[in-house]
Amino acid sequence: MRVLKKRLCIIGSGVSGLHLAYALKEDFDITVIERQLPDQIRKGRIMSTQVHFGSTRTRETRFNVPEWGEQTLIESIHITIGNQKLFVGQLQEPALSVDQRLYYSHSIEDLIDKGVSFRFEKVDKESVEVLIDEFDLVIDCTGKNGTLLPFPIEEDLSPFQTPQRKCIVGYFIGIKANTPLGVSVTVLPELGEMFEIPAITEHGPVTILFIMAIPDSDLDVFKGIKNAEEFTLKVRRTVQQFFPEIYNRIEGENFALCDENSFLQTALTPVIRKPYLMIKNKLVVGCGDSVFLNDPITGQGCNLSSYCAEQLYETLTEYKNSKWDMKTGEAYWNRTKQFVKEVTEWTNAMTKPLPEHVVQLLLQGTQDQVKANEIAEWFANPTKAYEAFFSTK
Ligand SMILES: Cc1cc2nc3c(=O)[nH]c(=O)nc-3n(C[C@H](O)[C@H](O)[C@H](O)COP(=O)(O)OP(=O)(O)OC[C@H]3O[C@@H](n4cnc5c(N)ncnc54)[C@H](O)[C@@H]3O)c2cc1C
Repeated sequence: MRVLKKRLCIIGSGVSGLHLAYALKEDFDITVIERQLPDQIRKGRIMSTQVHFGSTRTRETRFNVPEWGEQTLIESIHITIGNQKLFVGQLQEPALSVDQRLYYSHSIEDLIDKGVSFRFEKVDKESVEVLIDEFDLVIDCTGKNGTLLPFPIEEDLSPFQTPQRKCIVGYFIGIKANTPLGVSVTVLPELGEMFEIPAITEHGPVTILFIMAIPDSDLDVFKGIKNAEEFTLKVRRTVQQFFPEIYNRIEGENFALCDENSFLQTALTPVIRKPYLMIKNKLVVGCGDSVFLNDPITGQGCNLSSYCAEQLYETLTEYKNSKWDMKTGEAYWNRTKQFVKEVTEWTNAMTKPLPEHVVQLLLQGTQDQVKANEIAEWFANPTKAYEAFFSTK
């Protein structure tokens, strides 16, 4: 007898929804609901910055997520504190940053070609109830704007009531790349940070400048900026004042946003939720930022979303032939909890002044390439960062 596949609804096609759709599409009947058409995403505003580290890229290969070529592989992490460049650490595996507008729109079209059903509409708190009736499982992957379902907050992992950083992002052309090609992290104590990230966009390679300003500090100077021109000028002046090494690589009048929508200002209050619930006697789950929202300061959001998507895939596959209930939800949370905790506690610690023993580790990196490489690896493997920050051994 032919067994009908269970019907799953994924709300949101960001990293978490897409990775789930690719992973689950053979075993289940998948419908993805996304509020924006691929073309609206492609031509819309940037949503984020993103660096997919080695383990995320391995998952992308495992689940046949589209590939992007090798032209802008990120091989290293450059660390600067104040105006002192400390070291360049080598990543064990190269990373890649693809503009989410390109990644998401292309992947949606690819999934449609592969037979996955999409509905393009915005789900709200009322319509999600209808979806819970319609499907065997609803997965909330709606990202940072707040979950559609009342997943309970994990208070121990959610210490903040307000954003810890103002996020100011622009995708630029006209900056000479750093060498070896890598992500540059500059920490300005009491002011904030700068991430410089080489990335791929529809227009070709760009350099992302991502300023994270401590609210009300001297770096928090982007209030009231209205358009691309004002934004570009403000970034140029801010980089000149606070990030001279980057300023020296700006190529005069060539410095410009790669398109009129390639800038963004936002601020997030991190919050971690238990990612499962029973509603109307049915399991519902969350994945990605909708339930695990961290400050972007450590660049872990996409990687954590992808990790949790894989863990949810493993859980649903393991429980494929049983009724999905609290036990299934608990199994998913038990698989993910420790890693969520490590990423979250490291990330939250990074929003504070660096502890003295971490400053000492960074200084060791200036003398010792092995140590420098280990520190670079914190970003690819945040468990290592968590151990370095919190281990008492
Ligand atoms: C400024 C900034 C910088 C960042 N930098 C990094 C970084 O360097 N590295 C990194 O790994 N992470 C970074 N992140 C985090 C990263 O962007 C997120 O963690 C990641 O995109 C989360 O993926 P997601 O699928 O959970 O949500 P999203 O990528 O937000 O996708 C959610 C999707 O759901 C759709 N949607 C939302 N609501 C609805 C609804 N009601 N109905 C239907 N569809 C809906 C949206 O249109 C969207 O397509 C950054 C975030 C920000 C804000």
